[in-house]
Amino acid sequence: CADSAMYHAKESGRNNYQFFTTELNTRAQHRYTLETNLRRALTEQEFLVYYQPKISLQTSRIVGAEALIRWQMPGQGLIPPNEFIPISEEIGLILPIGRWVLEQVCYQTKYWRDNLVPDLVVSVNISPRQFQDVTLCDFIAATLQESGLPPSALQLEITEGLLMGEIDRLLPMFNAIKALGVSISLDDFGTGFSSLSYLQRFPIDNLKIDRSFISKIPENQDSVVLTHAIIAMANALGMSITAEGVENAEQMFFLTDSGCQEMQGYYFSKPLPVEQFEKLLKNNRQQ
Ligand code: C2E
Ligand code: MG
Ligand code: MG
Ligand code: MG
Repeated sequence: CADSAMYHAKESGRNNYQFFTTELNTRAQHRYTLETNLRRALTEQEFLVYYQPKISLQTSRIVGAEALIRWQMPGQGLIPPNEFIPISEEIGLILPIGRWVLEQVCYQTKYWRDNLVPDLVVSVNISPRQFQDVTLCDFIAATLQESGLPPSALQLEITEGLLMGEIDRLLPMFNAIKALGVSISLDDFGTGFSSLSYLQRFPIDNLKIDRSFISKIPENQDSVVLTHAIIAMANALGMSITAEGVENAEQMFFLTDSGCQEMQGYYFSKPLPVEQFEKLLKNNRQQ
């Protein structure tokens, strides 16, 4: 990419060449600064975990939450994960970051279950890179043990891309995680390229229908048909279903009628910092 920019720049004259090299330097500089800041963020504890509630339709209550990381860089406001997770994956920093999130979630969820919602289940996003770490399962087991959180209160959200990796290496890891009693959810379902046979080969407990389908409901007929098909398939395979990105009542009613048990989205609540999510749990209990 850098070479082709240079090539075009040289072709069209000296000033452009200077322009492009300056731009490339700026980009490299930006990247370097970001990396340095990210490494510091971990030691300086600049990360935060936000929680977005998951609502059960049967009871209209909060039954769970998804943990979503944020970065509070001093003087920079709140930085969303899409701006730093990909780079953290590239430089391997996702391993310590991922462990930190798991620890936060286990201790926090233990507290909420003991004090507010006894059957709360919290899910954590796990990058494919974290499955290259052979100690992942041991770390989860140790963190559950130390925090006192029952394994059934923890769910891991993985993406379809992971399942295209080496099944011989992945399957034992999945089985070990399942053997602990932790459940596994397939996030952003329908957006990847995974063959449906993976659903039989891997022990998946929950399918999370991607927001891109939900957002076009009910006006887009294809999204309606696909959503029905995904729900029917999950039911037939004995998996539970969660809809992500539910933004209005129309979508909620459509999903309810279609037999979807669990929903998450701005219609119910945005992801919230710990104290605000806790308030929601308290109100939820008093209803
Ligand atoms: P995801 O796991 O698919 O999470 C759902 C994303 O959709 C979140 O974005 C959430 O804020 C957003 N969302 C939820 N409901 C709605 C809605 O009704 N409308 C719209 N427009 N958006 C909604 P967020 O928090 O920016 O996270 C983006 C992605 O970053 C996540 O996608 C996940 O892939 C990744 N991520 C977040 N936290 C972690 C983490 O701790 N570890 C790893 N490895 N990845 C993480
Ligand atoms: Mg997720
Ligand atoms: Mg998702
Ligand atoms: Mg997503």
